[in-house]
Amino acid sequence: MTHVAEPPVTSSGDRAGQEQVNHWINGARVAGTSGRQGPVFNPATGDVARHVDFASVEEVDAAVAAAKAASPGWRATSISKRTEIMFRIRNLVEQHREEIAAHLTREHGKVRSDALGEVARGLENIEFATGIPHLLKGGFSEQVSTGIDVYQIRQPLGVVAGITPFNFPAMVPMWMFANAIACGNTFILKPSEKDPSASVYMAELWKEAGLPDGVFNVVHGDKVAVDRILEHPDIAAVSFVGSTPIARYISETGTKHGKRVQALGGAKNHMVVLPDADIDMAADAAVSAAYGSAGERCMAISVVVAVGDVADPLVDAIEKRLPKIKIGPGHEEGSEMGPLITKEHRDKVASYLESGKHQGATLRVDGREHVLYNESTGFFLGVSLLDNVTPEMECYRNEIFGPVLEIVRAPDYPEALKIVNENEYGNGTAIFTRDGGAARQYQFDVNVGMVGLNVPIPVPVAYYSFGGWKASLFGDLHMYGPEGIQFYTRAKVVTARWPDPGTSSVDLGFPRTR
Ligand code: NAD
Repeated sequence: MTHVAEPPVTSSGDRAGQEQVNHWINGARVAGTSGRQGPVFNPATGDVARHVDFASVEEVDAAVAAAKAASPGWRATSISKRTEIMFRIRNLVEQHREEIAAHLTREHGKVRSDALGEVARGLENIEFATGIPHLLKGGFSEQVSTGIDVYQIRQPLGVVAGITPFNFPAMVPMWMFANAIACGNTFILKPSEKDPSASVYMAELWKEAGLPDGVFNVVHGDKVAVDRILEHPDIAAVSFVGSTPIARYISETGTKHGKRVQALGGAKNHMVVLPDADIDMAADAAVSAAYGSAGERCMAISVVVAVGDVADPLVDAIEKRLPKIKIGPGHEEGSEMGPLITKEHRDKVASYLESGKHQGATLRVDGREHVLYNESTGFFLGVSLLDNVTPEMECYRNEIFGPVLEIVRAPDYPEALKIVNENEYGNGTAIFTRDGGAARQYQFDVNVGMVGLNVPIPVPVAYYSFGGWKASLFGDLHMYGPEGIQFYTRAKVVTARWPDPGTSSVDLGFPRTR
């Protein structure tokens, strides 16, 4: 067995790199008292690198109490002061992007360049939130009736919470907390227990940025912590990103307890390739989008729908590229794809190769043949390519969330569209073609929330919003961007009239404007 040493921790990157990962409540690290904890692996070695405290109900309550106590002061803090703090956290995240990325590589396993990309896309959300003075502007209508004006203001909700997945331990929290805090809310983050250190590191940066204690809190844990968040009467809203079954549960339980909820779920993203597509461009895009981050991206391409006679040359072009992908520990120079998050997940992903083959798919490239799968203690799996997949197969019906690309062959565009639209998920999709009319038609027809035209991973920039359709999102509002501002505020409409002697009288009729 090859055992790869854990990467060195830089001195500043070690702020949250202690062996026990603690909660962050009211501006300080707080050691867990529940007696429960979970292992945090280094996926490149398979070792337990540290442990993370799991919060009890009482510990969640303590975080909520701190957030509640900080709420009136933060809400009343002027927009200019809040903006100043947003600019400072923006600069600190940029200044410390290498340290944040190092946490991601150590605990998630993603390669350094990918981790830096995650931080950069997260940072965009903080940059968007520095524009909060403009984003919170309301509306004003003068003289709606004689001497009467109407205006709308948007106010924060109070204490809000975010529950995040393992695959983007820095970016997804930033999707949520940047807008939530800039809008004047106080925030409880429950990050994934699999890679929790980046959250605590970012909490320390918030403190350095001058954010008052209690405005940003982190509680770690499992279902106990999540359920308490969903039930707590002092939490007004919950943002969630994770798998579809949990997203559905979060949405149902949170709304039952009177909360505003947005819950983003899993995905199965299809890339349709039309016969006129540029084969090399499509193959490069499919390979990059399928295997980047070991396929553990909610916007990864997991299915290529090859239309008509493009299939054979396209699949050949994809297959030809696979041996060149350099798989290795994320911190090693030159690694392009790292390990998966846990051994259980890696084995589950690998099981779909067998089931696909068993149900009639052609396993053209088998990731289990990679040397690191067989000889490393880390959670590695090579890249895999399953051809001739059909929608009834288990490997198609489930979100695999690993480095497996499936090829479904469709005779024509209507059949390709039907396949995409009948899929349970609707997160992202792409079409590759040189025909603008066909691309526009696809954009019109497809039941998916985010669409790429010759762009395989169409994650919207921070000034648009991110969200899928169907089983990829429960709730009305998409995440971050303008819809994020809407989610984290509520409207108040004021109708105002000032005394004008001699104009008032008793009138029991319903107020009319004319
Ligand atoms: P997950 O659903 O297992 O976990 C997400 C969060 O929910 C974690 O904080 C976890 O602690 C908590 N959780 C897990 N089980 C729970 C339970 N039974 N009760 C209460 N809370 C529970 O997801 P994951 O494995 O961490 O992340 C991968 C999934 O996230 C994939 O399905 C991926 O597609 C999805 N994802 C979606 C998006 C999107 O924007 N739609 C983005 C990233 C990831």
